[in-house]
Amino acid sequence: MAMGRLKTFPGGLHPADNKQWTAAKPIEDCPLPEALVIPLSQHIGAPAELCVAVGDLVKKGQMLGQAKGFVSVPVHASTSGEIVAIEPRLHPSGRLLPSVVIKPDGDDVWLENLPAADPHALSAEQIKDRLRDAGIVGLGGATFPAHVKLSPPEEKPIDCLIINGVECEPYLTADHRLMLEDPEKVLQGVDILRQVLHVNHVYIGIEANKPDAIQLMTEKCAGTDVQVVPLEVKYPQGAEKQLILAITGREVPSGCLPMEVGVVVQNVGTAAAVADAIVNGYPLIERICTVTGSGVSEPKNLRIRIGTPLQHLVDYCGGLSGDPAKLIMGGPMMGMTQLSLEVPATRGTSGLLIFRDGDIDLHEEGPCIRCARCVRACPANLLPTTIAAYSRLDMFEEAEQHHAMDCIECGCCSYSCPSLIPLVQTLRHAKGAILEKRRKM
Ligand code: SF4
Ligand code: SF4
Repeated sequence: MAMGRLKTFPGGLHPADNKQWTAAKPIEDCPLPEALVIPLSQHIGAPAELCVAVGDLVKKGQMLGQAKGFVSVPVHASTSGEIVAIEPRLHPSGRLLPSVVIKPDGDDVWLENLPAADPHALSAEQIKDRLRDAGIVGLGGATFPAHVKLSPPEEKPIDCLIINGVECEPYLTADHRLMLEDPEKVLQGVDILRQVLHVNHVYIGIEANKPDAIQLMTEKCAGTDVQVVPLEVKYPQGAEKQLILAITGREVPSGCLPMEVGVVVQNVGTAAAVADAIVNGYPLIERICTVTGSGVSEPKNLRIRIGTPLQHLVDYCGGLSGDPAKLIMGGPMMGMTQLSLEVPATRGTSGLLIFRDGDIDLHEEGPCIRCARCVRACPANLLPTTIAAYSRLDMFEEAEQHHAMDCIECGCCSYSCPSLIPLVQTLRHAKGAILEKRRKM
C-alpha cells in the first residue's frame, strides 16, 4: 500500500531488523512446563505481597501476591496446581528474588466468578480498579502499572491516546502478529482506554515494515475516528517521547512524562490485555513472546504463561542450534542479558534472543576515538560519551547536569560506537546512582 511521506523523529539508527525469521509465523500456544516460577516482582513499583502458602491448591487466575501501594499490582497463578515452593529464584534482573513455584495439575482450571463486565456499564474509576486487580502493566517491556498511567493529576489534562504498535526492536514480531491475528481485541482495548481517558484523539502508530498490519488495522478502524499512522522504519521509533513527537509534533520537555503534553501511550499488547481484563475478567497470566536468533532451532512466536522457564521455551522451539554465546530477554537494543535459561519469563518478556558463538561481536572495548557517532545517534540529544565519562568517575552530579535522566536507554550510542564502549550500561548506572541520591534527600 502507498504510504506517502512517513512521520519520524530526529536521530536514531537503522539496524538490520531481522524480523524475517518469525514475521510470518502464527502465534502458537506454548504447552505448560513441569513447574511455573512466578516472581512477586514483575513490574515497576513495589513487589506484590505474598498471600498464599506452600501446599495450597490454586486455580488459574488466583491471586498469589497482592498489590502493595498505589504503584504496584498483584500477581496471579498462570494455571491451576499446587504451590510446591516459595523461595528466592533467579530473576531476569540477575538477582535472587522471592517467587512462587507452582506444579501444574494439568486441568488448567480458571478461578470461579471472574469479574467479567460490560465496559460501558463501568465508571473510569471502576475500570482502573479492575485493571489494577488484574495486574495489567505495560507489555511493551516497561511493565509500568496501567492504572497509574491512566490516572494523571487533574492539572495535566490528557487529550490524546497513542497506541504503540511500532515494535522497532530488531527480531521481535510479537506485536506484529497480535495486530494481524487479533485486531478486534486490540481495538476493544483501545475503546476501553479512551473511555477512561475521555480523549478526542486516538492514533495507532505502526512502522512501515509491517504493511499488512497497517492495512488490516486501517480497515478495522474504518468508520471510526481512530487513525492508523504509518511511521518511518527507524530505531527507537517506538520509544514514547520519539513516538509522540513523530505523531503529534509535541515535544516532551526534559525531565517530564508524556502527560506533560497531554498524551498517554499504551502498547498494542497492553490494549489487548485491557480488553481481556475488563470484558472477560482475565488477569494477566500470559503474553506473546518471540523466541528467535541464530541459536534457536525453530524461531517462533509463542503465547506463553507467565513463569515459564526460558529453557522450556527453547525446548518447544526445537532446542538450541549450537553453543549459545549470548541470551537476551527482550530485543537486542534494550533487552537484558541473561545468565541462565532457568530464569522464568515474566510480564515484560517480549522476546528471547539467543545468539550462537561466532554470530556476535565479542571483541574487547577500545578507547574513545572522539568520533561523535554516539552523539549523532542519540535521539534524546545527549552527549553519551561525556555522561559516560562522568559516570565512570562517580561524578553523578555532573552527569545529572548533562541530563543523564533524559536517557531512554535505547542503546543507540552503544550500537554505533566503533570502540564497543558499553555506553548505555554506564548511563544506566549513572541514572541508578542519581535516583538513589534523590531518594535519600
Ligand atoms: S544516551 Fe541514552 S538516549 Fe542517548 S543513545 Fe544512549 S541510550 Fe539512547
Ligand atoms: S561513538 Fe564511541 S568512540 Fe565515538 S565518540 Fe562516542 S564513545 Fe567515543
